[in-house]
Amino acid sequence: MRTPLIAGNWKMNGLGDDARHLATAVAQGVAGLNGVEIAVCPPFVHLDTVRDRVGDALSVGAQNCADAAEGARTGEVSAAMLADLGVRYVILGHSERRQYYGEDDALIAARYAQALEQGLRPILCVGETLEEREADRTESVVASQLNGVIDRLDTSIGLGDGVIAYEPVWAIGTGRTATAQQAQAMHAFIRQTLAARDAGLAERMRLLYGGSMKAANAGELLAEPDIDGGLIGGASLKADDFVAICATAA
Ligand code: 13P
Repeated sequence: MRTPLIAGNWKMNGLGDDARHLATAVAQGVAGLNGVEIAVCPPFVHLDTVRDRVGDALSVGAQNCADAAEGARTGEVSAAMLADLGVRYVILGHSERRQYYGEDDALIAARYAQALEQGLRPILCVGETLEEREADRTESVVASQLNGVIDRLDTSIGLGDGVIAYEPVWAIGTGRTATAQQAQAMHAFIRQTLAARDAGLAERMRLLYGGSMKAANAGELLAEPDIDGGLIGGASLKADDFVAICATAA
């Protein structure tokens, strides 16, 4: 049995007061929900204050981590620094990082390895653009993003305690969601791709859907057998909306 995970990706939103208020409201709202794990992923500068506010009600995640352990990497934040703050998850390879900052599979794999080394749980994002979907390349793109990371990791550890988020780029922030059938088909494909390497891992690994998930469509998506939770962008910035999604998964 895979415990569902609902993670809020706050992206680059909110000043200190916003982060404190949102964290407090989410922690209060999800108190008493059982059978679901909940995480919020604020910008780096708010991690400490959010960690303080949420107590044990939920986990905290970061939105990236460095590809090296320490030293001359101006502008980067190491996995050890995150672990030291009590951070549990780290989003890696988000399509916005791939698109705006040119992150490729090799860099994402190096970040992933660092995260595992420090005991963080990576949330590895994969997903195709609209152009790729229309060219019937969805599966090959997603397989190459997955294999591009797995093939670079230590084979004895593999993906470790990570999580995969399937986020079709055309559904991110657009209000356009993949249908439950489209999402399930890709989640089943991802699980098969993992199973080809390690059946136990494929069975254990949580696969999240991301892309305009909200309270109104969460139930339908989460009912699919291979969708084990959600990575929520816009709807995670309003406590009521985010709590409603968490309640759907509980
Ligand atoms: P939206 O929920 O705003 O579409 O964002 C999804 C996402 O990118 C989560 O990482």
